[in-house]
Amino acid sequence: MNEPRSNPLALIAELTHRCPLHCVYCSNPLELEARTTELSTEEWSRVFQEAAALGVLQADFTGGEPLTRPDILDLIRAARAARLYVNLITSGLPLDESRLEALVQAGLDHFQLSFQGAREEVANEISGTRAHAQKLRVLEWLKRHRIAVTLNFVMHRRNIEQLPEMLSLAESSSASRVEFANVQYYGWAFANRDALLPTREQLTHSIDFLKKAQERLAGKIKVEYIVPDYYARFPKPCMGGWARKLMLITPSGEALPCHAAKVIPGLAFENVKNRHLSEIWEVSDAFERFRGESWMQEPCKTCDRRALDFGGCRCQAFLLAADATATDPVCSLAPQRPKVDAILLTINSRVAQASASALTTTISGDATEPRRTDSSAGASVAAPTESKPAWRYRPNPS
Ligand code: SF4
Ligand code: SF4
Repeated sequence: MNEPRSNPLALIAELTHRCPLHCVYCSNPLELEARTTELSTEEWSRVFQEAAALGVLQADFTGGEPLTRPDILDLIRAARAARLYVNLITSGLPLDESRLEALVQAGLDHFQLSFQGAREEVANEISGTRAHAQKLRVLEWLKRHRIAVTLNFVMHRRNIEQLPEMLSLAESSSASRVEFANVQYYGWAFANRDALLPTREQLTHSIDFLKKAQERLAGKIKVEYIVPDYYARFPKPCMGGWARKLMLITPSGEALPCHAAKVIPGLAFENVKNRHLSEIWEVSDAFERFRGESWMQEPCKTCDRRALDFGGCRCQAFLLAADATATDPVCSLAPQRPKVDAILLTINSRVAQASASALTTTISGDATEPRRTDSSAGASVAAPTESKPAWRYRPNPS
């Protein structure tokens, strides 16, 4: 049964795919859009007006790096003029304190700063750029400005043992919310998945650690934890359900139901240059294709949880099962779940073997000691001992 059409609540505005960082887990598509194709200030301003008329309450400015847009102040003013709440999702560069002041003066409501870790070496390795020190400076500047702040730490096997240090960083900042979000495997993260997936042991320790942190910091900082889908029993309600709450506009103006939707073959995406946002939301092929339940196969079709998770992620179903209408293979009830279990088994076995062989070498006195976390801080899991992977870095489009 299909429910009546709802309005989108948030507009994810990918202002550009340009970015000074090259994160190995970037959720942008492998085919990045060029600067020359980006919507103009006027086109975005019209989109914000149309979004507000459609019932959208919030604009999430993201990218790429939205701060690379020279007209970022005009875009904030335009979204505010449309009465949207404006959230900037940023790596914190290029930025200095006077530009931060200008963003706040332009009406920015919320600043979400992303971190690649708590330690400079791994953070810079993951971003392929020396960006960590700048993020620490931004954190200090934010204390002097009246603006809501969220910190976002992207977690994976190479940095998950830094959790206590990340939490300390958040506690010393002006953030009222901190999100520890494990990488989800789309875009560049899918290409680098085998080097990013945490081990089961790491994940268990991180969950224990963050449960205690949530209790200790209740009422002070909201601590959120997003586990990797691959370890979950049931999928998350991806995007709150296909075309139910969110719409994403790419830098060139294509309207998508989610970040990764372009991986699904045969979907036709409309462009905001050619059609009003409300028509795109209501009748376009890409938004209609997986709306409601009529597209579902068994076991989703008759499952009691289908109104909770909407059958999981369509893009993940395509990436793992080569069928966008399949039950999300991360679901424990999915016929394709053995594929996910095989991936996890391979990763966990490989890391265990690497750690065992490093330990043997250490005992024989022929290597440095395997890295370990500070157990007194509460996340007493050994960091896997692996050599630096051959990362596939996200490039910067022209
Ligand atoms: S490269 Fe990194 S900072 Fe830039 S958009 Fe991708 S994830 Fe964000
Ligand atoms: S079978 Fe489908 S609806 Fe049921 S839990 Fe799994 S993904 Fe969700």
